[in-house]
Amino acid sequence: MEAKNKLVVVGSVAVDWVITPSAEREHSVGGAAVYFAMAAAWACPVQLVGVIGGDFPATALADLEAAGVDLQGLERSDGLTFRWKGRYHENMNSRDTLETHLNVFERFSPKLPESYRGAGFLFLANIQPSLQMAVLDQMSTRPTLVGLDTMNLWIDIANDDLVAILARVDVLTINEEEALQLTGETNLVRAATKIRGMGPTTLVIKRGEYGALCFGPDGALFAAPALPLESVVDPTGAGDCFAGGFMAHLAATGDLSVANVRKAVIWGSTMASYCVEGFSYDALRGLSREDIEARYQRFVDLTRF
Ligand code: AMP
Repeated sequence: MEAKNKLVVVGSVAVDWVITPSAEREHSVGGAAVYFAMAAAWACPVQLVGVIGGDFPATALADLEAAGVDLQGLERSDGLTFRWKGRYHENMNSRDTLETHLNVFERFSPKLPESYRGAGFLFLANIQPSLQMAVLDQMSTRPTLVGLDTMNLWIDIANDDLVAILARVDVLTINEEEALQLTGETNLVRAATKIRGMGPTTLVIKRGEYGALCFGPDGALFAAPALPLESVVDPTGAGDCFAGGFMAHLAATGDLSVANVRKAVIWGSTMASYCVEGFSYDALRGLSREDIEARYQRFVDLTRF
């Protein structure tokens, strides 16, 4: 594939401790960049930037490699991998963060391999905004499309850096509550208008089991449902898998038309629907293109009238 179809992602690479109302996994491989890459790599070449400590499981590296993810930009450092611990509420729609330990991310200074710098697509997945900026600054040419995700912690403790990077991106994917928190609004439509004034021309607001709202580059609104599922095992990473499916479709097709951005929202929803069916990226492992395309079709059927 040509550089114009390559997709670089920077973000957390983590060992999580996830507690749901019915189960718990103490060493659950996660991190925004891991989920993103596992959801994107079937569709286009993905190049990952991040850092791990000596405790990161070799099996997870093998899974990423088997999925075809380029790990040249994944630094191995002394110390512990980023760790996050969270507990879901009874309805699985909301959760409390119990612990966040940046560990090796505290001293991380990303150095982009030469082969990453000309990629056409860049996603700045959730991590300190200063690291997102450092990666964007190392691209040799401005990518065709730059996307970004963030979360409440960075809105709270790194707001100036976040505002600075937001001014330089095309697409923001963000949770409903975080969109309100970022803008100080209580209404989503007003929040979306404010965010689109801060830089991103396209805004995707993630609403968990209620799906996603996309405010397109033309300002028009598109709503996508989430797939109604009988059992949700672990919602961790659903937002990152959404972003992976969304960006990979745009990178693979190179088509940024409004109609194709809407399709990308459905590809994102498709990958998120797999993510929640297992802990970690378990349900994404080993999927075939046919599996994924059949599930995409279920979304098409779900919304056709
Ligand atoms: P999501 O469920 O899409 O919000 O993403 C969950 C992933 O985000 C988990 O695997 C965590 O390791 C990771 N995560 C949690 N807090 C942070 C943070 N402050 N910065 C970066 N990644 C985080």
